[in-house]
Amino acid sequence: MSFSKASVRDADVAGRRVLVRVDFNVPLDGGAVADDTRIRATLPTIELLRERGAATILASHLGRPKGKVDSALSMQPVAERLSELLGVEVRQAPAVIGGEVETLAHGLGPSDVLLLENVRFEPGETENDPDLAGALGELADLYVNDAFGAAHRAHASTAGVAGHLQGYAGLLLEREVTELTRVVESPTRPLVVLLGGSKVSDKVGVIERFLEVADEILIGGAMCFSFFRAQGIETGNSLVEEEGIKLAAEALERAKSSDCELMLPVDLVLGKNFDAETEIRESDGVAVPDGWMGLDIGPKSAAAYAEEIAKAGTVLWNGPMGAFELAPFAAGTRAVAEAVAAAPGTTVLGGGDSVAAMQQFGLGDKVDWLSTGGGASLELLEGKKLPGVEALLDA
Ligand code: ADP
Ligand code: MG
Repeated sequence: MSFSKASVRDADVAGRRVLVRVDFNVPLDGGAVADDTRIRATLPTIELLRERGAATILASHLGRPKGKVDSALSMQPVAERLSELLGVEVRQAPAVIGGEVETLAHGLGPSDVLLLENVRFEPGETENDPDLAGALGELADLYVNDAFGAAHRAHASTAGVAGHLQGYAGLLLEREVTELTRVVESPTRPLVVLLGGSKVSDKVGVIERFLEVADEILIGGAMCFSFFRAQGIETGNSLVEEEGIKLAAEALERAKSSDCELMLPVDLVLGKNFDAETEIRESDGVAVPDGWMGLDIGPKSAAAYAEEIAKAGTVLWNGPMGAFELAPFAAGTRAVAEAVAAAPGTTVLGGGDSVAAMQQFGLGDKVDWLSTGGGASLELLEGKKLPGVEALLDA
């Protein structure tokens, strides 16, 4: 399946005002942008619009201001960073909508760039309020959604506004959907899916879908303890989600009649506490004694997973194998990251923490596609429709 929505590349934008929803929800540190990955990811769309002589009006959320103005979550630092990256002045609107913003928007010339204030300063944003969507629509002549990371939300700036302006897909959103859809619909086989992280409940939809389409699912992270409990294995003080045990049992049952193999760790690294200074030991086997918690997959498991990754035609990875933020428990995630970086097959990563791990190991540029959307990528992989994509014009 190719991408079925109209692309910004085919939009007639010259001399027109284009409202672009972007995902500039970046980490801040001391009033400055701490990581500009998400800003850089939208540069191709902004540059395309500027080259074609459109006036660009950017809108994004930042953090969770809960419908109130919070100066700590102003877009000002983002405007500064974006100005540096684009090499032009990015104007900063004092609000999201209103008379002053309209005057600024209507005064833009070709290739000018205006950044609205944090859309979540408006209570109507997350409620998809029609008045807010309409007011956003007043600012521009057409709409582009490039905020893949927010595309699973039906908010005023991600979906509602497309009821007022013709909506096109931005280059990032288009690429994200294309890369992730290909993994599910036409992967080079074998398709190996590596899932970790903290909760089974976050990822059960993805497990169910891939039991039907993948060749192997490799489980790591705290999520494996729900599977072990479902098999009657002791998990000590490991992080176990009670709700996850039932979900894991169902997945194990479904795996029996599936062509997809579900692999679990065969050894673990244990710690007394979730702490880098804690006493640690390697377990032989996967039973965790009282007083200990499993905080990483062990070396045998990591080697076995690396071998499957090396043989894969396509690797999809979501969720770290252990508590990689703590140095003594990072080895499993690092081993798998190195295997993904060296894999001859196509490699795709989703999930905020797994992408952060890959970057932390300096291996980010060895992956074919690093998704910018955690929740959105999971929902797309599960087969759910994303409201921010559905609202756009068909191609
Ligand atoms: P992603 O953002 O890549 O989807 P998640 O948010 O699901 O990943 O999970 C990441 C978190 O899971 C990390 O903070 C990590 O510390 C935690 N984690 C992984 N394995 C374990 C474990 N065995 N015990 C406790 N926490 C774990
Ligand atoms: Mg996460």
